[in-house]
Amino acid sequence: MARVYLKKAEKTAKTDSASVQHTVQTILDDIEQGGEAAAKSYALKFDKYDGPMVLDAAAIAAAADKVPQKLKADIAFAHENIRKFAEAQRGSMQDFEMEVRPGLIEGQRTIPVRAAGCYVPGGRYSHIASAMMTVTTAKVAGVQNISVCSPPQGDAGIAPAIIYAAHLCGADNILSMGGVQGVAAMTFGLFDLPKADIIVGPGNQFVAEAKRILFGRVGIDMIAGPTDSLILADGAADAEIVAVDLVSQAEHGYNSPVWLVTDDETLAKTVMDRVPELIANLPELNRENATAAWRDYAEVIICADREEMAATSDDYAPEHLTVQAADLDWWLERLQCYGSLFLGEETTVSYGDKASGTNHVLPTSGSARYTGGLSVHKYMKVVTWQRATRDGAKQVAEATARISRLEGMEGHARAADVRLHKYYPDESFD
Ligand code: NAD
Repeated sequence: MARVYLKKAEKTAKTDSASVQHTVQTILDDIEQGGEAAAKSYALKFDKYDGPMVLDAAAIAAAADKVPQKLKADIAFAHENIRKFAEAQRGSMQDFEMEVRPGLIEGQRTIPVRAAGCYVPGGRYSHIASAMMTVTTAKVAGVQNISVCSPPQGDAGIAPAIIYAAHLCGADNILSMGGVQGVAAMTFGLFDLPKADIIVGPGNQFVAEAKRILFGRVGIDMIAGPTDSLILADGAADAEIVAVDLVSQAEHGYNSPVWLVTDDETLAKTVMDRVPELIANLPELNRENATAAWRDYAEVIICADREEMAATSDDYAPEHLTVQAADLDWWLERLQCYGSLFLGEETTVSYGDKASGTNHVLPTSGSARYTGGLSVHKYMKVVTWQRATRDGAKQVAEATARISRLEGMEGHARAADVRLHKYYPDESFD
């Protein structure tokens, strides 16, 4: 049976890429030429901010004083979970060396980048969790210098809880600057920040485009578009929980797709009736986001069976994937394309977004087909090395010389020849 759409998206989550690209390129060019003064002028224009750029110890302490004790405890709890998970990831990356042939020794090392720039979004919501996700993983990876930038909220600057969380998790510098100008400042090394080797973190379409344009000059984790979520639910799922979970992800933004894929039409219809009621009960900003996301981008798809549900989900390659269905082990084994998977009603994407320990910086817009999310691995370079004994390299040298000559690369061939003639003066080689 082909998939049946009870609700189909009116729009696809594509940005007006030509105009965004032009805007971002112009800002980057201005900042590259005009340096700090140009970056500051954009901070004033977009975020109405004219205060200190890099926070000093007194500003960090003042921010900490403003964070309620209970929130500090919650941040510590989440940080511990994120750190533990990241440490396990670090432990899973092994250096090794091996003797490929007698006397030919080769190895792999994993080396952290020296400087990371973490983008912590701050336009619509205060993304405390993004500070924890990006900085903690960089710290566990062993990055020596970690900068954070986040948009100031006018004269009030960066939200105190973001400053507190970034500092707690190990940020070395915190820059009160968001958007393209924040990314540019970390990439170009403005305001005495070290030039970032990699820029990571989520952000809006301007931030994503800045990362895309700068990629190559600087590494990036991924290009993250609007957040998206898919729920796989069978007839045993609790329709209320499915509906609440869909709404929880639709509030991210007006263009944040949520998809329900099920083999139970009754469940689908119950959820579709309930979602608008739940959205109507949200605070105003969240309601506006979720209303538009549900109206324009949401889909409800009926499949014949769980195999078709799984295949549908893999085609969508969602950023967040939830399974509320029987036999969770079958789904874990079967599903192949997702940023982060939430198995069973007892967990939810919100937990992963904030506090359970897996990273919330994840591939969007189908890019889970080819990449996972932010992890310790993204900050690490997998590099190789080799050494050899003279006898161990003899056969390699002969093969190298012949392959190189066939390729027309005489210089390469001679690098092998010179060694063969030096180490084996009495032999002839062809
Ligand atoms: P943001 O920090 O990404 O963007 C704010 C900045 O945008 C401002 O500082 C400003 O400089 C810039 N800006 C605004 N209008 C502009 C314009 N017209 N031209 C140039 N620059 C402009 O905050 P946001 O806008 O709230 O977006 C946050 C994004 O991050 C959302 O899309 C959200 O879904 C995403 N997010 C994703 C994850 C994830 O893991 N996938 C986590 C948290 C947030």
